[in-house]
Amino acid sequence: MITIQQNPQSKIKDVSFDNLVFGKTFTDHMFLCRYRDGKWHTPEIKPYEPLTLDPSASVLHYGQAVFEGMKAFKDDQGKVWLFRPDENFRRINRSSHRMQIPEFPEDYFFEGLHQLLKLDHEWIKSGIGNSLYIRPFVFASQSTVQAAASEEYIFMIICAPVSTYYTGAEINVLITEEFSRAANGGVGYAKAAGNYGAQFYPTSEALKKGFQQIIWTDADRHEYLEEAGTMNIFFKIDNKLVTAPTNDRILDGVTRKSIIQIAKSKGIDVEERPIRVSEIVEAHQQGLLQEVFGTGTAVVVLSINSFSYRDTTYPLPKENPVATLLKEELVGIQYNKKQDPFHWTVAVH
Ligand SMILES: *Cc1c(COP(=O)(O)O)cnc(C)c1O
Repeated sequence: MITIQQNPQSKIKDVSFDNLVFGKTFTDHMFLCRYRDGKWHTPEIKPYEPLTLDPSASVLHYGQAVFEGMKAFKDDQGKVWLFRPDENFRRINRSSHRMQIPEFPEDYFFEGLHQLLKLDHEWIKSGIGNSLYIRPFVFASQSTVQAAASEEYIFMIICAPVSTYYTGAEINVLITEEFSRAANGGVGYAKAAGNYGAQFYPTSEALKKGFQQIIWTDADRHEYLEEAGTMNIFFKIDNKLVTAPTNDRILDGVTRKSIIQIAKSKGIDVEERPIRVSEIVEAHQQGLLQEVFGTGTAVVVLSINSFSYRDTTYPLPKENPVATLLKEELVGIQYNKKQDPFHWTVAVH
């Protein structure tokens, strides 16, 4: 079903696994499948290499592109595991649907993913913090500057070995009322390429002011808290975990939903409801705001040290017991070190 061309020259010996920069080193192989004449053609796995695109390729002009982010983990016995890959598969097709990109067949995706991981399994190092970041993506490849949905697409999967992202540095975030990440009826719930490109300017402005991330509020009134950078965000208020409900502006994170399930299984109260900025500020003033953390595949759980709103900075407690507990539990499941009562992990044979 898949044409496989093995790379005769592995570059793994040139890679310093102790000094990986996130997302800059890629494995020996890539998966590629073309859509043309109304159908997806035979997928290929071949040596990782640059692509040739016509300068008029539709994606370069109109940004018709979506992506996913997922990880593979190696346990202490050398076995490779995926974490809820069915969620990422469903989500890339949801994103594609919104961007008028043809959906990708499930068997091609999983067969491609498993074959690719088998070929590149040496790139996955065991030990907590080490993993293989997997980047499936699809883009409009037709040679045309016509402003219409492309008739040709390329679906790819590339893989990058990574070690723990964000190395214990302070995370101070800015609640923005000026910029918006996503609008009602827009593409915020999709991992559409342009969503991320549009964040770089506000984020770099925040970086200049000394913040590491932006917390996005709703585009209408900037009253409700939505996401932190490219993470979902949780607040522990008076021993309850609160996070915004998913809607068409919020990305339905796999980490988010996993953390909610783990928390509930540990007897922690979780509320999915709109959260006003004013509620957070008041809870802080009353000493009831105990923890704030972001969730996402790259970071898993990232505790936030302070937030800033209308020129006031609100420092957060140094201890983050709930974030720490939930992260340890999730990471334990991902690395096959803990029982997986939810049946989330999938072995790669
Ligand atoms: C990918 C992403 C997340 C996190 O999703 P996970 O499935 O947990 O990795 C959260 N917010 C945005 C905007 C994202 O793009």
